[in-house]
Amino acid sequence: MRLFQYVIALAMVLVGFQNSLLTAQNSKKILVCSTTQVADFARNVVGDRWVVKCVLAAGEDPHKYKTTIADANMVKDADLCARNGWDLEGNNWMETLAKTAGKKLVTCVDGIKALDADEGDGATVKDPHAWMAPKNAVIYIRNILKAVSEVDPENADEYKARAELYLFQLQSLDNWAKKQMNQIPANRRVLVTHHDAFSYFCKSYGFVAKSPGQWSTADLAGISTARRREVTKAIRSLGVKAIFVETTLQKDVMKQIATEAGVKIGGELYSDSMGPEGSAGETYIGMMRENILTIVKALK
Ligand SMILES: [Zn+2]
Repeated sequence: MRLFQYVIALAMVLVGFQNSLLTAQNSKKILVCSTTQVADFARNVVGDRWVVKCVLAAGEDPHKYKTTIADANMVKDADLCARNGWDLEGNNWMETLAKTAGKKLVTCVDGIKALDADEGDGATVKDPHAWMAPKNAVIYIRNILKAVSEVDPENADEYKARAELYLFQLQSLDNWAKKQMNQIPANRRVLVTHHDAFSYFCKSYGFVAKSPGQWSTADLAGISTARRREVTKAIRSLGVKAIFVETTLQKDVMKQIATEAGVKIGGELYSDSMGPEGSAGETYIGMMRENILTIVKALK
């Protein structure tokens, strides 16, 4: 009987302990991010103090994404939302989600010097793929740091300390990238990818960017014959050794262009999304590292 009472008492203690763990988890603030890169930047600032959620799964395309009821429910519980901005989230879907739920939204590209992206009809918009340059990732981190510190000023010092460490890592990434790129002669620095996602990357490391697709994949059905011909011509005239497919997009178009131009596919690059959990590209630094190694191997 005594043993029985003891077991019951122990079970009650354990249930209580589990409940208090759940309460601790539930009391954490929630940050809902639009893209995988923004979510990774956020985790490097808030650590485990917040629960960081992401609308897009690895490999999903932000330009064409259509939000779901589950996304709206996720945003309802958020203490803060974060997006890339400049219409990377096609038709501003993250802004709509945050506005509908009445949530504060941080736009990570605020303060970055935009490059122009060609709309195809002579008009230009701000190119949203700004994270592709590590020096811009620094501004993403600063914007997230400011926003989370405003929501939770008590722990602002901790967020700042975490952000400082990550900024060192971004600086190291940039220095390492420049060193790696030095293996590619200047006249071979032409990066041909599916859509215009690499302009900031190319500007940082002395490359010329060429793609058959425009800045948004929402119009990819409309890769014009003229633009495709222009890319094939450029591959031949510039003596490009290899061109690249992207993880978030169909590979067919680039394979056809490679055959037409008589060059090989140099590999697959992470562009609008990081890699899945467990892959080498599951973090921002990881995706940049893998992209650079792939590019250097194919073009040096
Ligand atoms: Zn894109």
